Amino acid sequence: MRANVDFYEVLGVDRNASPKEIRKAYRKLARQYHPDVNPGDDAAAQKYKEISQAYEVLSDAEKRQKYDQFGHAYQQAQASGQWGGGDFRTFVFQQGGAGSFEEIFGDIFGDMFGGGGVRTAGRQRTRVAQQPQRGQDIRHALPVTFAEAIKGGQKSLTISIADRCPVCDGLGGKAETCPACGGTGTARGGGMFGMPTACPQCQGSGEIITERCSKCRGSGEVIRTRHIDVTIPPGVKTGSKLRLAGEGGRGFRGGPDGDLILELEVQDHDFFQRDGDDISIRVPITFIEAVQGSKITVPTINGQVSLKIPPGTKSGQRFRLKGQGAPRPKTGEQGDQYVEVYITTPSRLSRQQRQLIDQLAETWTENPRTDLPMSL
Ligand SMILES: [Zn+2]
Ligand SMILES: [Zn+2]
Repeated sequence: MRANVDFYEVLGVDRNASPKEIRKAYRKLARQYHPDVNPGDDAAAQKYKEISQAYEVLSDAEKRQKYDQFGHAYQQAQASGQWGGGDFRTFVFQQGGAGSFEEIFGDIFGDMFGGGGVRTAGRQRTRVAQQPQRGQDIRHALPVTFAEAIKGGQKSLTISIADRCPVCDGLGGKAETCPACGGTGTARGGGMFGMPTACPQCQGSGEIITERCSKCRGSGEVIRTRHIDVTIPPGVKTGSKLRLAGEGGRGFRGGPDGDLILELEVQDHDFFQRDGDDISIRVPITFIEAVQGSKITVPTINGQVSLKIPPGTKSGQRFRLKGQGAPRPKTGEQGDQYVEVYITTPSRLSRQQRQLIDQLAETWTENPRTDLPMSL
């Protein structure tokens, strides 16, 4: 991840964008840069990672607030955590790896309010980070076709996430007991007023990181790509979530893995429209069918159905086909389908038809505009 990259900039949204706008921007970009769509494209994979990380933060009200408040400081903490930066101690703050966002913020709090560079507040935070931790829940948009959303089905997807390195457990290297404090995290002697202070070598964590991890090159993160088979239950909608337990980010120090939360996004259909469990479709009828009445065949999600059009049907009139809508996931009942008819106007007439229309017109005395006011 590029240092100092602004999450709002990554998603191309305003700083006061609504959660909905953020979600919309994320989905659009995620579709564009998804590794499935750009196989072998490292730049796209990197961009996708940035988008995912920006969304991870900006979609969470609490994280977003902290980011708004400490954004730059957060980014610095992250950037200085890279190996080669030379600041060993700062790195310790980062050792939660992919899931350490809260710890990083916690340390910034300690940094800012602890004063004088003695990161006492950060000490407890870092200690907490050493306990087993559950992996991050990872959210991922999953586009499904209109038909899949209604009928359900199986889907195979490949997802790439930035995850805790399995070799070093996200630490970036080998964790060893701090030689200066023997693992207690406390400096000998005590500081001002005899209060114990954090060990300066390990920053109070009791551990130091040695030997840069060869797998993740010290970053603590690797891109993890997996193939996952998902069952889409019938009747899902845009915004429906599928939670796959244990398929999210890796746990820390033996903690359980997080969950993968798939946020479904139902694609539009060319003809059918969905409103909750109801389906609607617009169907053209000729003016003859509208005048005389007719029996027409209309498509439904379950196949063709015959629909009776009564004589004198108007354009825009709606008819209900009961039970021909989408299934309701909980009850298994089905919604309805609404057919809105509209009357087509013939643009080409045969000579005989033209004559008949002319004859009809001569008999016609109706003025449908008598109720209209003729001016403002
Ligand atoms: Zn590693
Ligand atoms: Zn120490």
